[in-house]
Amino acid sequence: MTENILCRVRDLTKLYGTVEAVDRLSFDLHKGEFISIVGPSGAGKTTLLRLLADLESQDSGEIRFSEKPSREHPVVLVFQDFMLFPSMTVAANVAFGLRARKIRRREIKERVAQLLSSFGIADKATKYPGQLSAGQQQRVALARALAVRPRLLLLDEPFAHLDKTLKMDTALFLRRMLHEFGITAVAVTHDLEEAFAMSDRVGIMIDGELKQLDPADAVYSRPASLDVARFLGPVSRFPARLLDFMETDAAVDELRRGINGSEVALAAPHFCRAESMGVVADPEGNGVVEEVRCIGVLVLYRVRLSDGANEHILNVFSLESGLEAGTRVRVRVTQVFREEQNV
Ligand code: ADP
Ligand code: MG
Repeated sequence: MTENILCRVRDLTKLYGTVEAVDRLSFDLHKGEFISIVGPSGAGKTTLLRLLADLESQDSGEIRFSEKPSREHPVVLVFQDFMLFPSMTVAANVAFGLRARKIRRREIKERVAQLLSSFGIADKATKYPGQLSAGQQQRVALARALAVRPRLLLLDEPFAHLDKTLKMDTALFLRRMLHEFGITAVAVTHDLEEAFAMSDRVGIMIDGELKQLDPADAVYSRPASLDVARFLGPVSRFPARLLDFMETDAAVDELRRGINGSEVALAAPHFCRAESMGVVADPEGNGVVEEVRCIGVLVLYRVRLSDGANEHILNVFSLESGLEAGTRVRVRVTQVFREEQNV
């Protein structure tokens, strides 16, 4: 194992009856790295953490640490409901794992003071969890987890109870803290934005399989499969021949040249992310807006487009909200993927 790898996971598999909760998962976790595994509910995320924490044993495959977790540097698993001790002060909560390890009083005091200060909750040291906001309680839980200087920190949906803004702030804050303390961590979540914001690499887990593990921008701009793209947001699926009815740019033109008139390739399913399409109102356009949905900053247009023989519905994101259902439009496309092919 090379120097900078903390943990190597190979073909890790866990069955519950016939359900493959974790299905031949393989990845390397680098020292000091922060990975997020994102996936829908039931994807096997919690099971993966429980395997990494040695709370569960795998059916096959292996987890190998280059530096074994020890009592001094354990694997720590943090759950979404902070699980603070309500009758202990903030300082006592953070010190808890250290007391259990019989570390000298003075050192405990120093470590706790440093953590509370880094986490911006020094003034809460003598308060009880019930007197704190959800965001502050979350910081206490994270400080408590870092206090024992874990070899590996595991976080299961750490911000599920926080509202959207607080979630993003806390995610970015956690990222800074882990780098400051040099902690290696794996978080699992179903929240894509949170994962993108905080981690060095993002893994997409679907049906027990790790479909892609890459830096956020690579996952986003080069999804490994239709499954992954679908998880990232709305996609449209259509035969390549429909491209003849859209405005295309250089990258898409290149893909079309590769198709080179082949009937099989023209009929093959391709997919396109909603961000990679655009619409422009045009009375001569060959598309028609079917439905308009405002989804925050963006508008999602559902556009009907015919390839001469069949009609297709396309999902298109736009910053412009001006188009109404029934408007004729031209459709632009900047990136297309051939289905089931790594791109
Ligand atoms: P996630 O955390 O991504 O929501 P889980 O790891 O909790 O997913 O579950 C993955 C799959 O394994 C699900 O189908 C779930 O029903 C099943 N599962 C998880 N834990 C158990 C268990 N202790 N016994 C039986 N089935 C389980
Ligand atoms: Mg879970």
